[in-house]
Amino acid sequence: MSLSMDLLERARKVIPGGVNSSVRKIKPILGWKTAKGAYMWDMDGNKYVDLNASWASCILGHRYDEVDDAVIAAIKDCDLIGLGVTTYEVELAEKIVENFPCADRVLFSTCGSEATYHAIRLSRAATGRNKIIKFQGGYHGWHDYVLRNTYNKKETLYTRDLGSKGMLDSVVDETIICRFNDLEDVESKIRANPEQIAAIIAEPVAYNLGGVRLQDEFLKGLRRLCDANGILLIFDEVITGVRVGMHGYQGICGVTPDLCTIGKGIGNTYPVAVTAGKAEYMDMFNTTEKGTVFFGGTFNAGPFVMAACLKTMEILERENVHQYLFDLGDYLRNGMNEIFKRQGYEAEMAGYASISIPVFGKGPFTCQDDLHETDMKAAIEFRKGLVKRGYYIVPADVKRLCLMYSHTKEDIDGLFQVAEDTLKEMKRNKI
Ligand code: PMP
Repeated sequence: MSLSMDLLERARKVIPGGVNSSVRKIKPILGWKTAKGAYMWDMDGNKYVDLNASWASCILGHRYDEVDDAVIAAIKDCDLIGLGVTTYEVELAEKIVENFPCADRVLFSTCGSEATYHAIRLSRAATGRNKIIKFQGGYHGWHDYVLRNTYNKKETLYTRDLGSKGMLDSVVDETIICRFNDLEDVESKIRANPEQIAAIIAEPVAYNLGGVRLQDEFLKGLRRLCDANGILLIFDEVITGVRVGMHGYQGICGVTPDLCTIGKGIGNTYPVAVTAGKAEYMDMFNTTEKGTVFFGGTFNAGPFVMAACLKTMEILERENVHQYLFDLGDYLRNGMNEIFKRQGYEAEMAGYASISIPVFGKGPFTCQDDLHETDMKAAIEFRKGLVKRGYYIVPADVKRLCLMYSHTKEDIDGLFQVAEDTLKEMKRNKI
């Protein structure tokens, strides 16, 4: 028995399934000892190049010294008081307001699901309407407002697919599902539900769906439809937030939402999320004197987490990390696409910026329907082959391959080698 298995067995006696998030049960389940920079080590001392990057929340690298030093300094300065306000949170809020086009005001919470929940509830209060639109395959967190139609099988696309037992029917039915990049679909759903839709929520680069990029015209169309119909546009930038640039994807596509959420990478693994948006809406939260939309959270805006974010943003800006990540992402995708071709696979490394996804099929991929036409079985075998060879990409369907600032060109060259070996093995096994 390995030390990993020993730990898992012990864990299973006290933690349901032995893991603390359902995605962590994707096999192989390993026990982890530590991680540093772009690498992680399991309990048995095996080293992996980390291509999951803590589900995109690690943007610089693991245990990044400068960030950790800022965190330690903050802890020594002030822990969580949870009353009033500290300099840390003001500085970070100012930084976000300065950078994100839609952000006049900012509120901090501890995870992305909270941030999307707050944004949606606020949109309901602001419009006096109940329904929201989300897209098939979009993921915005674990709560009842948004969990439906996320991880569908091909047969259940666009059906009433809940995602969890225990969700309230009445809530689920207020969430309308549309097809990504299909403006006519959105338009017809709005027409069918006149003056009932409070918000449209979308991840502007659908990194939870193979990095499907929302076309500029589609995003502009969403803005137009929202304006014409009194609907709030919410960009879920929990991943894209600081991953694609200092101003989020809203700063790239030129479409400004009413509200946005930011999370993951902004804290370089420290737990944080942001709900931000236009003052006329954000001032409705009851953190203001007259606000009527509840906002709370014991751990919100803890100084050490704010310090992690401030330092992470400082490094991203100072060292032009985004350019590095864009270039490394292009290098990875171009190299992998050549390898797929050389090995005779109709496959491509899709994606954008620092996040990619190996898809065994022919693009373009514009929605979940397209991805379901690809060979998922081959994709999973490919991923398993990489893991076996020390390159950890989650071995399941469309999960992300995510780069960090700590990854080097040599890491990617190493990936090319193991990818080619894996494809050769797959060919031998007729996959
Ligand atoms: N929105 C998006 C776009 C996400 O990718 C995630 C997490 N994968 C969430 C919301 C939820 O964030 P959290 O897991 O921190 O609750």
